[in-house]
Parts: sequence; C-alpha cells; structure tokens
Amino acid sequence: MSEVSAAEAALATEGQPTIFDKLLSGDIPSTEVHSDDLCYAFRDISPQGPTHVLVIPKDRDGLTRLSSAREDQKSLLGHLVYTAGKIGKKECPEGFRVVVNEGVQGAQSVYHLHVHVIGGRQMNWPPG
Ligand code: AMP
Repeated sequence: MSEVSAAEAALATEGQPTIFDKLLSGDIPSTEVHSDDLCYAFRDISPQGPTHVLVIPKDRDGLTRLSSAREDQKSLLGHLVYTAGKIGKKECPEGFRVVVNEGVQGAQSVYHLHVHVIGGRQMNWPPG
C-alpha cells in the first residue's frame, strides 16, 4: 500500500487529461469491476484494503472534483454513489468506506472525479 503525499496532491493539475482518460480509452489496462452507460468501476492500482475500487463518470464533462459539479450533474453524482454502495455491499458485506478526496488538503491526486470504495478490513476513525 502506498500513500498519496501532500506534495503529490499539490502537483496534480486540474483540467488536464488524466490517467483515467487513458484508462477509459483502454490505452492503459485496468481491472473492471462494473461498467454501465454512465460510469466505470475498476480496482485501484495501490489498494488501501483487500477491496479498493474507484467509480468514475465515463464522461468527465468538467467533473474534475466534487465541488465543481453542476446542478445538471446531480443525478450522475447519485448514480456514482449508488454504484459504489452496490459494489461495497457485494464485496464487503461486513461494511466498507466510501470516500471522495477533494483538492490539495483532501489529498486528491487525479482530477477526474472518483469515488473510492474501500473495505475488507477494519476501518478506523478519524481518517489520516
Ligand atoms: P485520489 O488521491 O483520491 O485522487 O485517488 C487517486 C487514486 O487513483 C489513487 O488511489 C491511485 O492509487 C489510483 N490510481 C492512479 N493511477 C491508477 C491506475 N492506473 N489504475 C488504477 N488506479 C490508479
């Protein structure tokens, strides 16, 4: 397991094509967990638990971070969280955590909105 450092998060560039675009186009490989018209879910390359899945919108359409979501994207946000819940329930029946990192202090490193589903181990609170 590796951590996203504050320095890495600070270096991430908003608005540019991200590694997730390459992943969606198939230019780089990923392990699919779920795919539908609106979203794609795949295993995180640096898992923070036995289950670590990322759920992303297929069409980023300006959705670089949670706080940049527009009014007309509310149902898409709901779909991402709904899908995260279904994946979590299937893979981690004992419980799981759903996280969206936002901005530098939130340790966001990829500016294509993504919902983390992490589970398969005991979580603690507060988070790091
Ligand atoms: P965040 O720090 O919230 O922006 O999370 C970005 C996540 O993307 C991290 O958990 C990374 O491990 C993950 N990640 C980066 N590149 C890839 C990749 N090629 N395939 C799967 N996950 C990736």
